[in-house]
Amino acid sequence: MKAAGVKKTGLFWFTHDLRVEDNPALTKAAAEVDQLICIYCVQPKAISSAQQLPNQLSSKRQQFLFETLVDLDKTLEQQGQQLIVRFEYPLDVLPELITQYDFSHIYRSHNAGEYERKIWQTLRNRYAMIEFNQVDTHTLFEKSELPFALDELPQSFSKFRRMVEKITVKAPLEKPLLLPVGDSKNHNNWQAQWHNQFPEMAKNNQPIFRGGAKAGRAHLENYFTTNSASTYKETRNALDGDSLSEINYSTKFSPWLSNGSISPRQIIAQLHQYESQAGANDSTYWIFFELLWREYFQWYAHSHRAKLFKFNGIKNANPTTSFYPERFQKWCQGNTPFPIINACMKQLNATGYMSNRGRQLVASCFVHELNLDWRYGAAYMEQQLIDFDVASNWGNWQYLAGVGADPRGHRRFDLEKQTQIYDPERVFITRWGGDQHLENLDSRDTVDWPI
Ligand SMILES: Cc1cc2nc3c(=O)[nH]c(=O)nc-3n(C[C@H](O)[C@H](O)[C@H](O)COP(=O)(O)OP(=O)(O)OC[C@H]3O[C@@H](n4cnc5c(N)ncnc54)[C@H](O)[C@@H]3O)c2cc1C
Repeated sequence: MKAAGVKKTGLFWFTHDLRVEDNPALTKAAAEVDQLICIYCVQPKAISSAQQLPNQLSSKRQQFLFETLVDLDKTLEQQGQQLIVRFEYPLDVLPELITQYDFSHIYRSHNAGEYERKIWQTLRNRYAMIEFNQVDTHTLFEKSELPFALDELPQSFSKFRRMVEKITVKAPLEKPLLLPVGDSKNHNNWQAQWHNQFPEMAKNNQPIFRGGAKAGRAHLENYFTTNSASTYKETRNALDGDSLSEINYSTKFSPWLSNGSISPRQIIAQLHQYESQAGANDSTYWIFFELLWREYFQWYAHSHRAKLFKFNGIKNANPTTSFYPERFQKWCQGNTPFPIINACMKQLNATGYMSNRGRQLVASCFVHELNLDWRYGAAYMEQQLIDFDVASNWGNWQYLAGVGADPRGHRRFDLEKQTQIYDPERVFITRWGGDQHLENLDSRDTVDWPI
């Protein structure tokens, strides 16, 4: 609570919580300080979560981020606030702001990424006078609600699910009634400056998803006005909709969930409302079930930290894969001997999205058919997926590479059989040109993972 006397100035560092509604970290900041500065740092050259592979966000990811930030900025403006967007590394820009404003408090959402954790730790060590606050905003449950310590996270998803699925998911918060004031003196031209720094290509094309909390909420509400949730379990494994515009075979919540434009608790609230009106069934339960998978990977990343990015994974397994640059290129471009893989990769490159079934197949192919080091596949998806989420991406890749949480060891999909089941008429393959440019894999030259 705010105390009378000395004025407190706080910094709110937005990361993967790009919303005002149901943002407990922002609500906490609003309750505790008198003046609040809000910032988001776009990394000038994005660093892969693995910290070793410099990578460039795809234009789809950039566009989604740009739209999200514009939307967030507008919402903050209605509260007399303005978002500072800087294209600099947090460890360059945050110290500059700390000197300028003399913050008493810094707030951020609890982050599962190792790189993000280290930055936070560095800042805490450097500025002992400031009160640092991290709040769980990205998960269904808070850390304190988990029935185990993080270092005792169950080794399998099934065990985790049985331990948490009866915990009541808290209702989403209302938006803070009033945010503390910002700083008006610096505001001139900020918007124009950061808008101009997003490449033009990021603002022009026709995306399948529009970024921002407003678009995310609209999608959430629309989804539950249809009866898609009642058939989700039967349709969720599809590779694509019947037409390019038909997307509800799965929920498509992931783009907004991953950057925090909507919260998992908001989804559960809508799901319960839907169940109370339309009735609960296996399919509506399965949406919750899949969100528990997401939850598992979030706490898995918090628990295993740097091991999430290690070749040997959390198991200290010894994969026999390596890195073949030409094979890797062909996989990225959708130019392998496997039509279903090509179609999936071309869909990803064109839209920034791929179905869950598609992701499982391309990852299995990457590791088991192409014999490639799984981390390069994960890094490529990090670059391309507009729903990139550090915990879900790297956790799922580990799982499929046999170095993660899968009690079965490894998963190799029979691509011919999968094609017969999921694309028997080859509609998906034809739509995305999976049969074109099938090339053999003849390269044998290997390159090691950069250290
Ligand atoms: C190799 C690989 C990489 C992946 N990378 C990501 C990623 O970067 N970001 C991401 O959000 N998901 C990732 N996933 C999980 C899953 O593929 C996507 O969440 C899902 O396809 C998103 O579409 P949807 O919202 O329509 O999912 P739905 O089927 O409608 O599921 C509802 C929600 O449950 C969660 N969910 C579903 N399946 C999974 C899963 N296997 N793991 C974790 N959460 C899940 C998602 O939040 C999703 O939005 C990956 C899966 C694989 C196999």
